[in-house]
Order: sequence, then structure tokens, then C-alpha cells
Amino acid sequence: MDMKSSFLDRLFDSGLLIDTGVDGLYGRSGQFEDVIAAFERLIDKFGGADGAEAIRFPPGMNRAFFEKSGYMKSFPQLAGTVHSFCGSELDHMSLLKCMEVGDDWTKDQQATDIVLTPAACYPLYPTVAKRGALSESGALFDLQSYCFRHEPSKDPARQQLFRMREYVCMGTDKHVTDFRQSWMDRGIEMMKAVGLDVTIDVANDPFFGRAGKMLANNQRDQNLKFELLIPITSTANPTACMSFNYHQDAFGTKWGLNFADGSVAHTACVGFGLERIALALFHHHGLDVKEWPESVRKTLWG
Ligand code: ATP
Ligand code: ZN
Ligand code: MG
Repeated sequence: MDMKSSFLDRLFDSGLLIDTGVDGLYGRSGQFEDVIAAFERLIDKFGGADGAEAIRFPPGMNRAFFEKSGYMKSFPQLAGTVHSFCGSELDHMSLLKCMEVGDDWTKDQQATDIVLTPAACYPLYPTVAKRGALSESGALFDLQSYCFRHEPSKDPARQQLFRMREYVCMGTDKHVTDFRQSWMDRGIEMMKAVGLDVTIDVANDPFFGRAGKMLANNQRDQNLKFELLIPITSTANPTACMSFNYHQDAFGTKWGLNFADGSVAHTACVGFGLERIALALFHHHGLDVKEWPESVRKTLWG
């Protein structure tokens, strides 16, 4: 075997990931999915007693909510929209002609009411706001969704369509920052239980452009985002496999998440990158699950 072949090549060769011809868009084998399912059960075990309300949204969201979220101000480079053909029979004829001669047939596609979900929690805030005032004890949600980000890469840990499991907490400043801290502790404990060494570091989101540099610095200075990092493709630049985000009252204000007395709720979310965690496990313990350390197998499969 060519010892120089990349981790991505080895994942393709083993069949764990399936090449589609597009960087960052992969099929997954049954074995790969089984690891994700087992890890999600571990998440359930750690978070299950908290009484979170489970909600599953599809990987597309209401475009109007997406527009209101401000995503295009911060991350225009990552967004994906769903466009469709909405023309007449005549338009259809010219569409087919266009495709036949190899011209750009996509320029007449019309925007639909759906955009691809950029993070699992985005559809949640307007949904909860519509329910009315939050109870004094706050609210906790358990989400999982495929997410889209236009960041094609040869790094198997940077995919364009990947799953994020999230817990989202709404409540007072203290309530949601305690929630975030408890998941940082749990994250370390969980990864240790599956034989992965981690570090936690302050982080920032990839805000677009020059103005974005200031937003990123501000996010760091205020400790609003932390990441749990595990070396996958590089030891010098370990990969973020979990993130812990405190939004202060930004989402509460934007979406109208209020308590009965009218005061604005604070929010925080904790995200697990499910493909990244599976890839970290395969990278550290080998591509053959049967060869993984007994303690790791026991944690995942009992
Ligand atoms: P990165 O810093 O690597 O770009 P991020 O900070 O943008 O990641 P978040 O927006 O915090 O990531 O998303 C939550 C989690 O989703 C991350 O901690 C990571 O595990 C996972 N994730 C983010 N982007 C990708 C991707 N392109 N492919 C696979 N997993 C991802
Ligand atoms: Zn989130
Ligand atoms: Mg990051």
C-alpha cells in the first residue's frame, strides 16, 4: 500500500466514505453510520436526564427566517440556497437547448422558499418565539440536522453536507452559561471514554471580510465561543469536533425570545460535529472497528 496516501484516500479505499466526484460531498458506509449512531447514544446517555425537548428539522429552512437571521451579513461565502425551474413550456425548451450546447442553464433558476440549513439551531429560534413567553425556568432543546456549508475541501473533516447534533438552552445569563460549562466538562469526559485526547480553546466564527475581522476579535475577547479540538488531519491544527457558543441576548432580541415579564432571554448552543467525531475515532483507533480498544468498543456498543 502507498504509505503516502492521504487519510481521505484511505477512507475511500476502505469504503467508509464514498466518493461522489465533489470535494466535501460523500456517501457513508453502514459501518461509518453505525459509529455515528453509537456516539449519538453516548450523547443521549450524558444529556438524557436534562429533559431536553427533541425536535428534528429537515436540512432545509424557511428562507424568510434565514434572511432575518443575518447569516448573509456574516457568512455569505458559506450559504447555500435552493433554486428551481419555474418557467413555461417555452422556457423548458430553451432550458434543454441551453443544456445541450453546454451553456449555463442554471442562471434562469428561481429562488424557492427554502435555503439549506447552515447550523442545526437556526430553524429553532423562530419556532420557539412563535410559542410565546418562555417559562421562568427557561427551555432546553435537542436537535440534529444535516447542515450545508459551501467550503469544498480535500480535508475529510471539512465537508459541505454534514450532521450537527446540538443542545440549545434559553434562559438567564447564568442559566445558559452554566449549561455551556457543563457540556464542556461532559465533552472532555465523553471523548476520554472513547480514547480521544482533546484540548479546549477559545475560538471565533469565520466572519466574512474586513468588518468580519472585528466581529471575530470581539467574539474571542468576550469568550463567546469555545471549541473542543482533536487532531485528525494535522497535529499542529487540530480539528474542532464540538463547539460551545454563548450568544448573550443577541438571538433573544432578534427573535423576540422573552420571559413573561418582557425581559429578553439569553441563549447558548453546544454542537457536536458527528462526522468529525467519527473521523477522529477512525483516525486514532484505525479503520477497522473490530481492532479498536476493548474499552472504546464497550463505551460505544456496550
Ligand atoms: P471550523 O472552525 O472547523 O470551520 P466551525 O467553528 O465553523 O468549524 P461551528 O459553526 O461551530 O463550526 O459548527 C459546529 C460543529 O460542526 C463544529 O464544532 C464541527 O464539529 C462541525 N462542523 C463545522 N463545519 C464543518 C464541516 N465543514 N464539516 C464537518 N463538520 C463541521
Ligand atoms: Zn447552534
Ligand atoms: Mg471554528
